[in-house]
Amino acid sequence: AKAQGRNNYQQFTQSMQLKALLHARLVRDLRRAISEQQFCLYYQPIVELSTGKLVKAEALIRWQHPTRGMINPDQFISAAEETGLISEIGDWVFRQAAWQTAEWRKTLSPNFHVSINSSPVQYLDKTSRMSLWLDYLRTLELPQEAVSIEVTEGVLMDKISTAPEKLRALHDAGISISLDDFGTGYSSLAYLKKYAIDFIKIDRSFVQNLTTDSDDLALCEAIIVMAHKLRMKVIAEGIETAEQELILHDAGCDYGQGYLYSEPVAAEAFEKLFPPNH
Ligand code: C2E
Ligand code: CA
Ligand code: CA
Ligand code: CA
Repeated sequence: AKAQGRNNYQQFTQSMQLKALLHARLVRDLRRAISEQQFCLYYQPIVELSTGKLVKAEALIRWQHPTRGMINPDQFISAAEETGLISEIGDWVFRQAAWQTAEWRKTLSPNFHVSINSSPVQYLDKTSRMSLWLDYLRTLELPQEAVSIEVTEGVLMDKISTAPEKLRALHDAGISISLDDFGTGYSSLAYLKKYAIDFIKIDRSFVQNLTTDSDDLALCEAIIVMAHKLRMKVIAEGIETAEQELILHDAGCDYGQGYLYSEPVAAEAFEKLFPPNH
């Protein structure tokens, strides 16, 4: 039993060492990824439910790792947050997405809109990197209304962050604010009052069982009614079936996003989702 215990302990420390090693390697690779521009953005369509038209996209980061291949954000965002590297990555994401939006407004659709994710860590900086974002939009001659910043409830909750001032400044400049994954965090209705929020994104977990769970339907309907009374628009995430789409459309939901329309795809593939001569 004693030997067994020692063995387990050795395995435990070995696996801890392995974890630490892998983490250190990830951080080193992330630093290199920034300097060598290994990130790219995928875009997922957002459809206006009343017309079926593709009017927006959400930009979602991907990492083209030189040896490990394409890596999804779930594998690296938290390491980027822990190390603070997310601020630099987030600046790159903003600029790349804004540049792409300006292009697509010229070539695809003049009112096209792109939604950009942000991390709570980006609101901890005392310096305002976000005023540089506004400068960049001016350089591109891209109207502020063309972009939206997505925040999670975590951003709004954090007491030490500068989120209130930063979001206010972005909103005052004309950038819209979207509340991501709505309903999954410590949703407090007070946030809806305190912050100038333009869009609520209903989390996929409520959309998933819409056809079988009447409670989920009731929650979606209530969120939509509430949002509209507060002059916000609603985007439902994770729509995978035509049935879910129909229910949400009938409930008055404004926009839909999910595999029913398309998975997130690279920019070139995204352009092909537009009908010719729209
Ligand atoms: P999110 O912001 O909630 O993004 C939606 C995620 O759901 C995406 O995963 C998307 O591929 C997936 N999804 C979309 N439609 C469907 C569907 O119909 N069914 C299912 N099962 N999934 C669907 P992805 O691209 O892997 O991104 C994961 C998360 O990583 C995002 O969740 C977001 O929190 C974070 N993330 C992505 N890009 C960025 C970024 O540029 N900056 C920051 N800070 N976070 C990012
Ligand atoms: Ca999002
Ligand atoms: Ca989401
Ligand atoms: Ca999510």
